[in-house]
Amino acid sequence: MNHIVCHYSEIALKKGNRQFFEEKLIKNIKNTLPGGSFESIKMVSGRVVIKLTLNSDKQKITENLKKVFGISNFSFAQIAENDIRIIQKTALEILKNKKFKTFKISAKRGNKNFPLNSQQINEKVGEFILNKIKNIKVNLDNPEAICFVEIAGNQSYLYCEKIKGPGGLPSGTSGKICVLLSGGIDSPVAAYRIMRRGAQAIFCHFHSYPQTNAASIEKIKTIVKILEQYQGKSKLYLIPFLDVQKEIFKKAPEKLRVVLYRRFMLKIAGKIAQKEGALALATGDSLGQVASQTLENISAINEAANIPIFRPLIGMDKEEIIKEARVIGTYEISIQPHEDCCSLFIPNHPETKASLKDVKIAEKKLTASKLINAAVKNSVLNN
Ligand code: ATP
Ligand code: MG
Repeated sequence: MNHIVCHYSEIALKKGNRQFFEEKLIKNIKNTLPGGSFESIKMVSGRVVIKLTLNSDKQKITENLKKVFGISNFSFAQIAENDIRIIQKTALEILKNKKFKTFKISAKRGNKNFPLNSQQINEKVGEFILNKIKNIKVNLDNPEAICFVEIAGNQSYLYCEKIKGPGGLPSGTSGKICVLLSGGIDSPVAAYRIMRRGAQAIFCHFHSYPQTNAASIEKIKTIVKILEQYQGKSKLYLIPFLDVQKEIFKKAPEKLRVVLYRRFMLKIAGKIAQKEGALALATGDSLGQVASQTLENISAINEAANIPIFRPLIGMDKEEIIKEARVIGTYEISIQPHEDCCSLFIPNHPETKASLKDVKIAEKKLTASKLINAAVKNSVLNN
């Protein structure tokens, strides 16, 4: 099993851009494979075929490929010449080591020059296996073993196991998005979701250091490290927010603090997005989850931004978000203690139905543009 066949799904639909998507996918696969683990990677009839070196670490390779967006599934495969007798023998070699009572052959002819069609290959290989292995039967609906045969280019690839990939589109094919990353459970999942659609996430974290501790910033860096496994080295902006909060604390109605914090976050992140050439922001909001996420408050907060804001988790329940955070690998870090900037100076009863009119009146009393520019200027890029 010295080859890997990677299948992608949606890229195949992108007619004009297909080559661009495929090249990105190949580049991302190359970047994720451990050094010295492969001899070649190339496109063969609509799939990516990796030729591994001897002694490559298959477990590590599996782990890494599961994080490459764009791959719908992949398999460690045995190669054979495009000759039905050799394909039959190779199928036998693979199947004779497995325990099963029922099986089927599932052939796909990617190379139409091969003289037999898929059904004919299934029959010929199936018959051969039935003659060579005792006490087994063909079961097309629910077999215990499936031997896949793919005729692609001038070689055939045979395998029994399909390993699920993460799906989505290759990282770096959908432009840049600034993700507002807090220390909580939700925003890393939101980041994952936009990264999965091919966007490159640029992370923005607001902190109230030294009012909040340095460990909370370290926690954010750890979350970014985990997310980097999916998109490679990433930019993280650490943005000082204490001055903004102090001004709001001093001059704005208590009830509106959270809404105002959020509006400033969007304005500051919007400036960073502009600097980075990012065309949208993303947050981990889920409708109605907390006071700042009622429809009225989301609406009053949203108005502060002048670029689109994506909220990939808007329709998700907390339980579903937690489940996804566990799969991504951020959950265990997210639940560590965290001193969040937004928990500073928070009233017991924050507004849940902010009116934009009141918010704007309150904002007029603040030296908004000065605060925004200072926060952008004093932000620290950690990459
Ligand atoms: P999370 O688990 O992502 O913190 P949450 O349920 O705690 O979400 P909020 O604290 O209301 O919800 O935050 C809503 C969204 O606002 C977050 O998902 C994140 O995108 C953004 N956000 C909140 N605090 C910060 C922060 N300190 N830095 C950057 N973004 C933040
Ligand atoms: Mg939070």
